[in-house]
Amino acid sequence: MAPVFSQFQPDGERYRSLNLYLKKLFGEKVYKVTLNGGMTCPNRDGHIGTGGCIFCSAMGSGDFAGNASLSITEQLREGKDAIRKKRPVRKFIAYFQAFTNTYAPVDHLEKIFTEAINDPDVCALSIATRPDCQPPAVLELLGRLNRIKPVWVELGLQTVNSETARFIRRGYPTDVFDHAVHRLRMLGITVIVHVILFLPYETKEMMFHTIDHLNKLDIQGIKLQLLHILKGTDLAAVYEKTHFHVPDMEEYSKRRGFAFDPPTDYMPGDLIKDKDQFYQWLDDFNKGIDKYESIRNKVKNKVHLYSDGKSCERLVEYCGINK
Ligand code: SF4
Repeated sequence: MAPVFSQFQPDGERYRSLNLYLKKLFGEKVYKVTLNGGMTCPNRDGHIGTGGCIFCSAMGSGDFAGNASLSITEQLREGKDAIRKKRPVRKFIAYFQAFTNTYAPVDHLEKIFTEAINDPDVCALSIATRPDCQPPAVLELLGRLNRIKPVWVELGLQTVNSETARFIRRGYPTDVFDHAVHRLRMLGITVIVHVILFLPYETKEMMFHTIDHLNKLDIQGIKLQLLHILKGTDLAAVYEKTHFHVPDMEEYSKRRGFAFDPPTDYMPGDLIKDKDQFYQWLDDFNKGIDKYESIRNKVKNKVHLYSDGKSCERLVEYCGINK
């Protein structure tokens, strides 16, 4: 992957967002179309296990992916049309999301991936899978496709802590993941890693342990998924019966350091939901009616450390620039 970033994003965030990365790489905003290649998963079909990971839905974590009874071309058409109804988009990532998308005969994989990559609107393939499902023939295929258009492989790691991995029934030890990353990188394939934060009984130190581990590997992206518990999963059954700690809003606010509760109380402007409300706002604005001055002051007092009009002076002083 070409280095398309300086150290941080222009907005000062200490991470490189996918959105900005895509804009730099492809020159415009790119959207994902989620696809269903009709796969299953070795953690469900009995090869490794039958219950699957405890957080995984019956749709193999692909509840919003396309309809597997349609061809990839049809799913792509439907997905692109749905997105284009809302905004003008030219480029798409074909995202094979549901179940384990390298767990099928290589001929089938070649057929569906080639169908996606041949779509002129598709600028990259993104393939969600497990690290224990890349036999040599599949790796060879991915390497070949990667020479036509960028191929990203999304590996579901979730955690490197072995007791949590056992609890969530991940079904492979972490060194299998490490080796998979290495093999994929040997082929120049972009590796994205799924991590779930706040898995049951994981402490902050355990979460950092996962991140420290990933920092030592040659990965190109990370998806940080906050734990959510889907109805009907084994995780939901565990939660209902035993309960485990999930961070509440107060804790989340403390960690984020910047949250409003409820946000609408602090909005220093109209919440415009339809055309009439917009015209009303325009009318008020033209008449100089400002209903939100006091709320703006409230927000200002909450987020600004200083409001004495001397910030430039302070900055000059801070930078050591003599007047
Ligand atoms: S590996 Fe993926 S598809 Fe399989 S059970 Fe786990 S989350 Fe679901």
